[in-house]
Amino acid sequence: MPVPRRYTTDAIVLSRFDLGEADRVLTLMTPDVGKIKAIAKGVRRTTSRLGGSLEPFAELRVALARGRTFDVVTQVSVTHAWLRLRDSLESAATAWYLAELADRSLEERHAAEPLYALLRRAYELLDAGMAAGRVARWYEMHLLDELGMRPEVDRCVECDRVLEAEGRFRWVPPLGGVLCERCPGPVHERTGLTLDGLKLLKAYQRLDVAALAGLRQAPLVEREVEADLREFVRQALERDARSLPFLDEVRHAPVAR
Ligand SMILES: [Zn+2]
Repeated sequence: MPVPRRYTTDAIVLSRFDLGEADRVLTLMTPDVGKIKAIAKGVRRTTSRLGGSLEPFAELRVALARGRTFDVVTQVSVTHAWLRLRDSLESAATAWYLAELADRSLEERHAAEPLYALLRRAYELLDAGMAAGRVARWYEMHLLDELGMRPEVDRCVECDRVLEAEGRFRWVPPLGGVLCERCPGPVHERTGLTLDGLKLLKAYQRLDVAALAGLRQAPLVEREVEADLREFVRQALERDARSLPFLDEVRHAPVAR
């Protein structure tokens, strides 16, 4: 389908960098056109009409004109500002991390409705005050699902046996999920997935966000599953997320009172 010379779309800013004296290049995620690079000309001048609206962590309505290298932003309005998302450094850093994962997962100009809806929902949840770690795990699990790499947490990835509660488990992202105790697995395996860890991984696949938000879980298990899912995502996207060191830093920083 040919894209018209001018078009209007919903969009979330995934990343941006300054160009020249007053311009800014944006990576936008849109439901129908997928990921696009667009330029906002003169946006860094105080007189710019586009000005403050072209910010991340918001759902925008953007009018664009097709350009040779980048499409050109001609108009923008904010549909959802999600202002409370920015109140905590941890939730803002998490929002950057989720945007980066979306950016990594998308090819330019491929429709991305499910991934758009996923990021949009994650930002709503952060804005509503759901624990940032829970939102991030929920998002990682569903992102993997959308990418066709849903982790196997019900059956052994080697022998296909249903995992029993009394068994011992290993988390092996290169194989796509959990390995039972009877299968040897690769040499460089990650050992030790606890039963509680396995249950929490299953919960992220099965429970809706309301149930996840209310789930009580020991911090140790949360950290275990965080490490497990991060490892799986790193494996799936073939590298580390650049935003993670910052996220870890703000999360472990002492809270100012
Ligand atoms: Zn097995």
